[in-house]
Amino acid sequence: MPESDTVTGHSGGPALSQERRLVTEIPGPISRELHARKASAVARGVGTVLPVYTVAAGGGVVLDVDGNSLIDFGSGIAVTTVGNSAPRVVESVAEQVRAFTHTCFMVTPYEGYVRLAEELNRLTPGSGEKRTVLFNSGAEAVENAVKIARSWTRRPAVIAFDHAYHGRTNLTMALTAKNMPYKNGFGPFAGEVYRAPVSYPFRDGGMGGVEAARQAIEVVEQQVGVDNLAAFVIEPIQGEGGFIVPAPGFLATLAEWCRANGVVFIADEVQTGFARTGDLFAVDHEGVVPDLIVTAKGIAGGLPLSAVTGRAEIVDAPHGGGLGGTYGGNPLAVAAALAVIETIEADGLIDRARSIEKTMKQRLTAIQQADPRIGEVRGRGAMIAVELVERGTTTPDPGLTKRIAAAAHAQGLVVLTCGTYGNVLRFLPPLSIPDHLLTEGLDVLDRVFRETR
Ligand SMILES: *Cc1c(COP(=O)(O)O)cnc(C)c1O
Repeated sequence: MPESDTVTGHSGGPALSQERRLVTEIPGPISRELHARKASAVARGVGTVLPVYTVAAGGGVVLDVDGNSLIDFGSGIAVTTVGNSAPRVVESVAEQVRAFTHTCFMVTPYEGYVRLAEELNRLTPGSGEKRTVLFNSGAEAVENAVKIARSWTRRPAVIAFDHAYHGRTNLTMALTAKNMPYKNGFGPFAGEVYRAPVSYPFRDGGMGGVEAARQAIEVVEQQVGVDNLAAFVIEPIQGEGGFIVPAPGFLATLAEWCRANGVVFIADEVQTGFARTGDLFAVDHEGVVPDLIVTAKGIAGGLPLSAVTGRAEIVDAPHGGGLGGTYGGNPLAVAAALAVIETIEADGLIDRARSIEKTMKQRLTAIQQADPRIGEVRGRGAMIAVELVERGTTTPDPGLTKRIAAAAHAQGLVVLTCGTYGNVLRFLPPLSIPDHLLTEGLDVLDRVFRETR
């Protein structure tokens, strides 16, 4: 990636200076004013990680209303993987918005939807014939993957995992593990969802992947019955749950068992997909071929789009008219996704994610060596996290995690937290971030870890 100091902003707009620049305290006075308006106009249930109000973003920075320029280690939660305002995305969407904004693919269709389906069929793992269907959000796509699996197997039950996150709709709340803030008071939840243990090397004593998979399979055998099971739904690297990378062999053993038992293996790659982990999909690292793969977030550079792609005979199980939605595969979002795919291929972003992993892990491991409160540095590609614990233990320290995140924010670095215990700091820089900002963001973290008690 070039050490460019600027990237072009919105089409024809001013170039966005690639620097961290603080001209007020964070958040600044105009942001604070807007945030007061938010409190009296927007539902309290919608939380805010960092209340600086954005006016522009691109490359590796977010520019706020007060004139501050922050380094982005969040990508809007793993969405702007190709960058915010990536040139091909901006052009492709601008051209489409002038042509037409919507017809509904179920009324009068358009080529872009078909082309994107062809691209997803080509790019996802597995060489057999595939089909794709498009939706708007990750949760909506996960719900539809389950519908498809039930339609194909004629079985009701679904297995999800400890620490799983699959969304906030009724069925996906049931699949999601964590009560607060996702589920508390929002039940009753959809039925026929069962939970199995996952492989979590930092917390399961380093159990092997095959053994961990056996424990999950035992839940099916003891509590569900294979004749009742439609699908396993799993994130190949858990996202909100704490960037948990399962032990080698875990995913492959589950996938093999599914194949042998006519159970649909659904990979939820909503957060891990589209070059984020240093491969196009996280299952590629393990050579695992899911029956269905769910994508969203990084797929369309910030426009709302999601997809279910998989084996043709499974995706084609639901009857004609059984799948769809008013906006699914909206022309603008499709135009963005086609440009994202082109950008990943043309700009070598898979390699870029790998080089970001190398830089981040090297630096974070050095910070860990000086700071025993970092229990583990883990992740893949540009999806890297540190799990924070009380010194010399594995006891989670969510308080420290909050303080570190707040200190980073105050220094103009956007970072997010995650984890069932709220003790994981996660880093998801856009792959368009220039090296000098990646390094400066890590410098900020280094300092913040030394200064925060
Ligand atoms: C974000 C996320 C979802 C939900 O996606 P939305 O677009 O927010 O509905 C589902 N699964 C995973 C793994 C996610 O990270």
